[in-house]
Amino acid sequence: MAVCMCRTVLPADSGPRGELGAGPLLRWMDAAACLAAEKHAGVSCVTASMDDIQFEEAARVGQIIAIRTKVNREFQTLMEVGIKVTVQDVLTNAEKIVSVAYATYEAKPVGGGKIELKPIELQSPEEHLEYLLALERSIIRRGYLEVFQKVMQESSKEDPCEDKDAVSAEHTHVQSTELVLPPHANHHGNTFGGQIMAWMQTVASISASRLCRSHPILKAVHRFRFWGPSFVGDRLVFNAIVNNTFHSSVEVGVRVEAHSCGQWIQEQPRHICSAFLTFSALDDRGEPLAFPRVRPATQVGVRRYYGAIARKRILLNSMCIVFARADKPSDVWEERNKAYLNYKNVAALTLLAGKPGWDITKTLDDVKIWTHEEGDVLSFKVEMQVKVPSHVAFSLLSDFRLRQRWDKHYLACEVLQDVSEREKIYHIISGPTAGCQPQDFVVLVSLREPCQPQMPYTVAVRSVIHRAMPPRPEYSRSEILCAGFQIHSTGSSSCTVCYFNQVTSGVMPYLTANLTGSSKSIEVTALDCIKFLELEGSKC
Ligand code: ADP
Repeated sequence: MAVCMCRTVLPADSGPRGELGAGPLLRWMDAAACLAAEKHAGVSCVTASMDDIQFEEAARVGQIIAIRTKVNREFQTLMEVGIKVTVQDVLTNAEKIVSVAYATYEAKPVGGGKIELKPIELQSPEEHLEYLLALERSIIRRGYLEVFQKVMQESSKEDPCEDKDAVSAEHTHVQSTELVLPPHANHHGNTFGGQIMAWMQTVASISASRLCRSHPILKAVHRFRFWGPSFVGDRLVFNAIVNNTFHSSVEVGVRVEAHSCGQWIQEQPRHICSAFLTFSALDDRGEPLAFPRVRPATQVGVRRYYGAIARKRILLNSMCIVFARADKPSDVWEERNKAYLNYKNVAALTLLAGKPGWDITKTLDDVKIWTHEEGDVLSFKVEMQVKVPSHVAFSLLSDFRLRQRWDKHYLACEVLQDVSEREKIYHIISGPTAGCQPQDFVVLVSLREPCQPQMPYTVAVRSVIHRAMPPRPEYSRSEILCAGFQIHSTGSSSCTVCYFNQVTSGVMPYLTANLTGSSKSIEVTALDCIKFLELEGSKC
């Protein structure tokens, strides 16, 4: 159900720097994503929201832009669509990523009735991964406002800028009006979301240029939602102003209001959407230009000034967590980070499990041990055939306090924070290895049930730093980068349980002893796990 749209960048699509303008690009991205949504839904669709978009690479006139879009998951009448934009040079054939984004579309059948979207048919491991992560992203979307309000409260305690050279924000105010014509709308007369985004970026870019006296380059669009539709004949009024500057970047906010045709004066305008766009600018030598500080002139301006700081903080924080190198030390557990930490936890295990190139190193009756090497990262997998239904195995393996019953390495395990039914933080003490002192771990355990029958149950495990449990002298604090279980049903009363572990220094001696034959602890633990699950399962 993928859609690919290719365009050669023409002079008419480019801005003053000879690079593809962000306006046409946003329009194409929305059009290609909307086509993917409509292909799946079988009815026309409208843009509901767009997650944060970062632009990594600029495309020049003559280069080819390819936009690949695909529905990742359906949620009643909504669909999440993944958008990948690449640029290809005709002369060298080299292809680079311009942007990866996620948007949601709503199915809107003619006549306004409701439609039940058919489930996505998942074929490849990548599709399974995106399907699973689409749910995590929807949790992040839903929780965003709450996180924003918390961060905003903290940011507002800081003193505003006292720079005497600061420019008044009012100096950057721009207003523009557009009339929605048939080419701006689909065949039902609904304005294309991408067209509105393109207009917003034009107005925002003019606002940013007031500060830098140069041609601003769009670097990022903050997530935004369409609050309601607009139609052919509507007048759209765009108001933009700089909310804040961050040395070499500037955040411009745009608010769009629609006035119905014929009701231009009388009717209250409808708030269609708001967006926050980040620009940078270059000097003649191609070096980033420093933006002057801005001084908000009104109370509302002060609120927006801190709002920009909060958005920047949330973005940097989420990027540090989600896009950090896989071997980076643990992240700090904070309530406001929880959706990102769970995303990373579930994503890491699902990615590890779906990697090709697992080598089998030992086969017993009901247990197989596999290893996987990629660069200097070694992982192992223990596959166990168990005669209990998958949901029973999931519930028994979800509670880490029960693990002491089958894993002799676990000396103690307590719940440090019961975050929710699907997330818990445990403090685990495990036996000493090779004459060292006992180790301890603080881990986040994220539980996910399958969303489709062929998908596995997931128990993802990853170390976190928790203020309530700093390292103690009697234990050596160890890290789990990526571990956990995937449980696949193989029948009404049987399942395959796979345990995964990305090897860290604490686990290495244990694994090497097993691989060289001097220890059988992995297979003994696996057999004990099967015995435990079958014994407890028979009581259910
Ligand atoms: P908020 O004020 O909470 O940021 P809005 O949806 O009202 O949310 O506005 C979004 C952004 O649009 C603002 O942050 C501001 O940058 C810009 N904006 C809104 N109203 C105006 C206006 N009347 N003039 C100039 N810019 C505006």
